[in-house]
Order: sequence, then structure tokens, then C-alpha cells
Amino acid sequence: MPTTPTKSKAEIVDVVVVGAGISGLAVTRGLLGAGKSVATVERRDRVGGRLLSPELDSGNGRVDLGATWFWPGEPRVLALTEELDLNIHQQHLDGDAIYHQPAGSQRLDGNPIDVHSYRFSDGAQSLAEAVAGVLPEGIVRLNASVEKVRGEGPFEVDVVDQTNGARTLLTADHIVLALPPALAVASIAFEPALPERLHGLAAMTPVWMGSTIKVVAHFERAFWRDAGLSGSAISHIGPMREIHDMSGPDGHPAALFGFVPNATPGPAPTEADIRHQLIELFGADAANPSQILIADWRDDPATSPEGVEALQAYQAFGHAAYQRPALGGRLHWSSTETAVISPGHIEGALASAERVIAEIVNSDLASTSLQGSPL
Ligand SMILES: Cc1cc2nc3c(=O)[nH]c(=O)nc-3n(C[C@H](O)[C@H](O)[C@H](O)COP(=O)(O)OP(=O)(O)OC[C@H]3O[C@@H](n4cnc5c(N)ncnc54)[C@H](O)[C@@H]3O)c2cc1C
Repeated sequence: MPTTPTKSKAEIVDVVVVGAGISGLAVTRGLLGAGKSVATVERRDRVGGRLLSPELDSGNGRVDLGATWFWPGEPRVLALTEELDLNIHQQHLDGDAIYHQPAGSQRLDGNPIDVHSYRFSDGAQSLAEAVAGVLPEGIVRLNASVEKVRGEGPFEVDVVDQTNGARTLLTADHIVLALPPALAVASIAFEPALPERLHGLAAMTPVWMGSTIKVVAHFERAFWRDAGLSGSAISHIGPMREIHDMSGPDGHPAALFGFVPNATPGPAPTEADIRHQLIELFGADAANPSQILIADWRDDPATSPEGVEALQAYQAFGHAAYQRPALGGRLHWSSTETAVISPGHIEGALASAERVIAEIVNSDLASTSLQGSPL
């Protein structure tokens, strides 16, 4: 007997949040706290987006393939880590850095490369997991991709289950785009199309670190510290341009990490390339990392639209058009790229979330007061 295609289930909520990165999760939490009904739709099988902290094969802990640090002067991140009782530690700064150039490696006197910053001892992803952990069950839907947004508010939102292709229809008064604007307009169909200037702005807004390759090398011990080295290096040879210590508290688990420069054309470096560079910088002790992890963010379709390397108009970050909702106050821009404060950073993602929560709560206050007005 032929099977009939499954009919979409329809569900009505006040707000659909697209993306369960730290920004979308913070928006979700704030709106639930304000009494809204929210469905948060996440394309990946995990929360956190660009906060990505896999467990090491050795079982010794987690390392960061996305964000690593937050800095003094970023009060939102600090407040959230304190509220959620997350373990943090300071970036290791002690020891000498290395300068790597065609003439060879040069040991510097001290470490002019690293600055005072904080790390999440259980990986940056633990911040997103902790926020998701305080949300009621069923709010965040994983493996669910928003593919189409119809209408100009209320919206009909088509969600596709990434595991079985099943379609769900969500109806909402507000939609929050908590993903990089360029990815939103490249991967979600808007019917009718977004206003041309807004679409154009979103399409040209770079994805922070979206064209970066990040490499982590895990070692049995932080041998460079024994030699009085900080673990940091600047290299004009590559493949990694900058290298830093990524060890946990007191050096456990021991790890170094590096960035391959933004917009480097061609494939990601191989493990052999990484090993070779680490030996040049840190000597024979660096020959046998227990594990090398490589994340090529250019190739991750849940972060970077095709051609991400070409997006260089960083002046679009925090653009005025992102600071107010579009479509009669119903379509909202969250994500770090839209922030005025610390755009690109976790702090920026939280700042944009704060703005969006206020936009939605205040829009309802405005309509309530209009309803009550004699006019
Ligand atoms: C390599 C690297 C290093 C970094 N280092 C630092 C650092 O040291 N310090 C710092 O502060 N910041 C750093 N950052 C930046 C930081 O990670 C980001 O600012 C922050 O995580 C952005 O959060 P977000 O919620 O705005 O976006 P994202 O984390 O990108 O979240 C967007 C979410 O939307 C989901 N999504 C995408 N499309 C759809 C769809 N169609 N339907 C449903 N869901 C969808 C994605 O899967 C993702 O979960 C780094 C980033 C990278 C990649």
C-alpha cells in the first residue's frame, strides 16, 4: 500500500528562536522568564553553536575548538558563569613566548603575546549546556532546522527534523534570528523576501571566526612549561599563525592550540603539518601529541555560508539596522555579529540577547498600553 506523506504538525508559540547558540539560549531563558511561550530550534544535535568543546579521547577533559577565552571587562559572561556556578581559571601567561620566522625560531624574553583572560575549565560549551540545563524540557528542539519563514508576522515557520526529514509547522508572533545574519539569509527562505537593504546588509556581514581553522594538540604533560616557555608563539611560517597554551587548571589536561589565519585558501593542514610545526617551535618533546583535533569552520554549514572567506565588511557588525526589529517589530536579530558591545565575542552574543529580550517584552508592553488607551 502506498504511504501517505506525514502531514505537518502545527504548534503555536509567542516566539520562535532560530539557533541554540549562547545567544539563542540566553534569549530563550529571558523570554521564558518574562512569561512567553518559546520554541527554540537548533539545527545541530547539540547546543552551543560556536562554543564547541569535545571530550578528549584520553578521557582527561574537554578542549575548545570554538571560543576559548573571555576577558576582564566582559561582565555578562562573568555574571553568567558565577550564576551557573561554572569553574573558570586564568589563561596561563608565565614563561617566554616564541617568534617563528623563516630564519628560525627565536625565544622572546617574556610573553608579549597573551593577555590576562579567563577560561572555562570544562570547556566553553559548558556555558551553553548550563543555560540549556536550566530551561524546561522540550523548549530546545535539537536536530531541527528552520528552512522557511512565511508571512510578516505572525509567522509560519517550517522546521525540518535532520534525522528523519519530518516537517513541523510553528506559528509565532515573533521570530528571533540567533544565528549569523549571512547564514540566515543564505539558508532560510523568507516569503515574502526580506526588505532588499536588510537582506543586502545581512548577506555582507562577516561570520566571526567563520573562516578560521582551529587546531588543538593534546599532550601527556605541559612539557613546555618545564622549559620556562609559556606555550605561546607567533609564526610567519605556519600553518598556525598564533599558538597558545590551552591547558586546564594546573596544566591538566595539557594542550596547545593554534589558529590558521582567516581566509587561508586551500585545505586544512594535516596532522603531520601540525606536528612538524610544533617540533620546530617546541622541540622533540612536541613530536608525539596524544591527540590532534582540527576544526575547519569554513566547512561547517551550521556556522558558515558558502563563500564565507569573502565576507570582510566588519563595519557591518552591530549595524544600526540590527538594533531594532524589522517587519513591524516582529523579526529580531540576535547573534554576536549584531551586537554593539563586544561584537564577535561571547559577551556580544549575550549583549544582543539582552537587546532582543527587551525588544519583545517592550513591544508587548506597548501593545498592552495601546489596548488600554482611550485612543
Ligand atoms: C574558532 C573560534 C574561536 C573563537 N574564540 C573566541 C574567544 O576566545 N572568545 C570569545 O568571546 N568568542 C570567541 N569566538 C566567538 C564565539 O564563539 C561567538 O561569539 C559565540 O559563540 C556566538 O554565539 P551565537 O549564539 O551568536 O552564534 P552561534 O554560536 O553561531 O549560534 C547559532 C546557532 O544557530 C544554529 N543554526 C544555524 N542555522 C540554523 C537553522 N537554519 N535552524 C536552526 N538552527 C540553526 C547553529 O547550529 C548554532 O547553534 C570564537 C569562535 C570560533 C569559531
